[in-house]
Amino acid sequence: MTNESQNDIIVAGATPPGKSALAIVRVSGPGCIAVVSNMIPALRKLEQGSSRKILYGFAVDGDDRAIDEITVIPYIAPASYTAEEMVEIICHGGFMSSRTIIDRLLECGARLAEPGEFTKRAFVNGRISLSQTEAVIAAIEAKSELALKAAARNLKGELYEKIDSIRTEIRDILTLIEAEIDFSDEEIEKTPLQKIASSLVDQFQVATAILKSYDFGRGLNQGYRLAIVGRANVGKSSLLNALLQKDRAIVTEIPGTTRDTLTEWIEIGGFPILLTDTAGLRESGDPVEMIGQARTRGEIENSDLILFMIDGSTGITDEDREIYNLISDRPTLVVANKADLGFSTGLNISVQFPGSEVVAISALKGSGLGELEEKIGRALSLDDFNLDTAILATERQYRSMQAVCETLAEALEEIENGATEEVLAAFLREALDHLGELVGETTTEDILNAIFARFCVGK
Ligand code: GDP
Repeated sequence: MTNESQNDIIVAGATPPGKSALAIVRVSGPGCIAVVSNMIPALRKLEQGSSRKILYGFAVDGDDRAIDEITVIPYIAPASYTAEEMVEIICHGGFMSSRTIIDRLLECGARLAEPGEFTKRAFVNGRISLSQTEAVIAAIEAKSELALKAAARNLKGELYEKIDSIRTEIRDILTLIEAEIDFSDEEIEKTPLQKIASSLVDQFQVATAILKSYDFGRGLNQGYRLAIVGRANVGKSSLLNALLQKDRAIVTEIPGTTRDTLTEWIEIGGFPILLTDTAGLRESGDPVEMIGQARTRGEIENSDLILFMIDGSTGITDEDREIYNLISDRPTLVVANKADLGFSTGLNISVQFPGSEVVAISALKGSGLGELEEKIGRALSLDDFNLDTAILATERQYRSMQAVCETLAEALEEIENGATEEVLAAFLREALDHLGELVGETTTEDILNAIFARFCVGK
């Protein structure tokens, strides 16, 4: 981010331009109510207690001519999104009203906000932690209701509180050890190392449980990838269509993924699932050649689960077996399709594909899809998800937490090996640094900029 000064009055549209009933323009910074009152007379004589009250009036141009009929909300610091003085103007939607209001505010001395600058101010002003900041992004980008609810928990600061309680415990242990180092010549009663170790083990376990939550955090925010693989005509596209009809397709455009006819988002058990039909990747040729294609291989390697489809009515062919051999080291569910036609006699799937779960379906008739989803959920361990636990939502958070766990594990090992208090104290300080990174207290400017760059302007 460039061009930033904490005392500037910043302005941006908080809603996308386009045909809509209403639009919101946001302004933040010390003295911004006076600046906005230049163009919104309703703000000129604010009464006591007007903060966060909706006022009605008109926005006017430099000659006092009406631009639009508006409502306006003044926020007195620190009771606002940014924890600064703020104004939110609700005007008519479309392209012109918010743009004209913003232009007029720029003339009055405000400057355009950078992407994420409102949220950055909330963070810099100490109103929210970095994990809450990331929860704002997660809420905006949520692809399922469950993802939104998980983001809302982090927005309320639940992850921060859990992390903070680990910090407090470790800080207490460190204080104890430091006191013993400082007074090592004196006759003070020493805390047995075993007692320290047992407190550290407790914190290590809490940290490890939070670390594991990233499996779900990643799943909720980025979704799981499922590839439907099988020879031609077994019914792969039919399954994709059947699942799309049964489940709500997720309409959101997710950055970084191209939407084409072969890839669709659906929701299973509240989690976003990216389904890829690998049909069409192969025009002709033998199955080995087909799987050898870079795109298919990439798809298979990147998948969290492969739905390996066979045509149960014709039985298992050599081609099926060849394809299966190429994917069998990946988590796989065997889907026997065309159950409506009756399965061929002697079809013994579990003997042919030992160790794989099998589901019989008819993509055409829509039968067996519920069981298929249940087995998908089980294969991805979606049932183990509990919304009541704190969830790490981003890779950044995961890496910091991983460093915390590794450092605590090393500290415990040092205790086993009879470490000195100085060595132990150094490990604890390192663990505290990583925890500080996680909540954003010791995060570098580069990391902060990378996080805020993901926001849209006006947030
Ligand atoms: P893909 O090449 O693997 O994608 O296979 P398609 O989905 O295009 O299906 C190939 C043919 O099988 C089509 O004629 C489908 O209508 C048919 N088909 C797909 N699923 C079923 C099913 O469950 N039962 C029956 N009877 N036919 C199916």
